[in-house]
Amino acid sequence: MNIHEYQAKEVLKGYGAPVAEGVAITSADEAEAAAKQLPGPLYVVKSQIHAGGRGKGKFKELGPDAKGGVRLAKSIEDVVSNAREMLGNTLVTKQTGDDGKVVNRLYIEDGADIDRELYLSLLVDRSVGRVAFVASTEGGMDIETVAEEAPDKIITVPIDPVAGVTAADAEKLCSALNLGGAAKVDGMQLFPILYKAFTEKDMSLLEINPLIVMTDGHLRVLDAKVSFDGNALFRHDDIKALRDESEEDAKEIEASKYDLAYVALDGDIGCMVNGAGLAMATMDIIKLYGKEPANFLDVGGGANKEKVTAAFKIITADPNVKGILVNIFGGIMKCDVIAEGVVAAVKDVGLKVPLVVRLEGTNVDLGKKILNESGLAITAADDLDDAAKKIVAAVG
Ligand code: GDP
Ligand code: MG
Repeated sequence: MNIHEYQAKEVLKGYGAPVAEGVAITSADEAEAAAKQLPGPLYVVKSQIHAGGRGKGKFKELGPDAKGGVRLAKSIEDVVSNAREMLGNTLVTKQTGDDGKVVNRLYIEDGADIDRELYLSLLVDRSVGRVAFVASTEGGMDIETVAEEAPDKIITVPIDPVAGVTAADAEKLCSALNLGGAAKVDGMQLFPILYKAFTEKDMSLLEINPLIVMTDGHLRVLDAKVSFDGNALFRHDDIKALRDESEEDAKEIEASKYDLAYVALDGDIGCMVNGAGLAMATMDIIKLYGKEPANFLDVGGGANKEKVTAAFKIITADPNVKGILVNIFGGIMKCDVIAEGVVAAVKDVGLKVPLVVRLEGTNVDLGKKILNESGLAITAADDLDDAAKKIVAAVG
């Protein structure tokens, strides 16, 4: 689960991280009062959407010459006029896709005088099985470009889960970020704070880009992007309360109600599969035959008829879907249950696109019989290859 920048800063502030004062608003009428609570004379007006690259982003409605999604303002009037221009408009950034995201919320922040922009993040480094810091002096710009063109400028420091952030780890990070004086004192305090926040709140990513050295020599968390492990949310009611469903895909929200692992994608072949590995293989083979999957969907090992019906409805509700491929290996899950779910769903929502079903495993004959006797226009397939070819041909 992702949260907004202003929420992430609030969480980090609770752990003692240095963040600027700020006020979140949802209407331009609140901008003046918000700015008046801040010291000035420099303010920042920041679009709150669940995507990065806002600074370099462009508002669809405002044309190419307008300023981006993060703007400096030098007076309260300036804050207000920027807020009026930004709120309600659609911001397109490298991470939003072409459709962009509507800015429903702004964060008005006390502006900082920046000396240097650094990169610092915490993530789960699977190659070493540990939470690791990733640090670079090249913050502020696209870290992926740095990773490609100057990978030696990115330093990874894995943390021993028993020892936590040791003095030696903190020293390594200070030298990776080239911190001295007050910035180093701040850094030595900040690293354990971030690690504590990351582990206690079950974050899966904590990215600060940029972490800045201000002209007064101190550090400040200028941007914050935080994702949480959805499987651990049950033990963090405070974090769950930060969820902003308006930022999420409606189909993914619906799927989460039924405990379906669903990710919306851009293609036109809807997939219903059990098991993440089989789902990945199914997506791969669709691509192999020249089409793109409309979604990743793992109905899980123990899905019942109700769950299958819900999954089928979510897929058919997507207007991009031009054909559906059901690919199920019945292990724990029985093929007849799947077949019943598919038939029930088709009868319920109708079938306006071609449907190819490949069943294998427990009760496969019974499953096929149910499909055959349903009177529905379902194409049966013998194996994965056959199924992919048939659905790609049917979609055309
Ligand atoms: P992003 O573009 O979505 O990553 O948004 P950021 O919060 O990282 O802001 C983008 C850029 O705006 C930063 O890299 C800074 O260069 C600039 N910026 C943001 N806040 C301030 C501030 O308080 N003072 C100054 N001078 N620049 C800022
Ligand atoms: Mg940033």
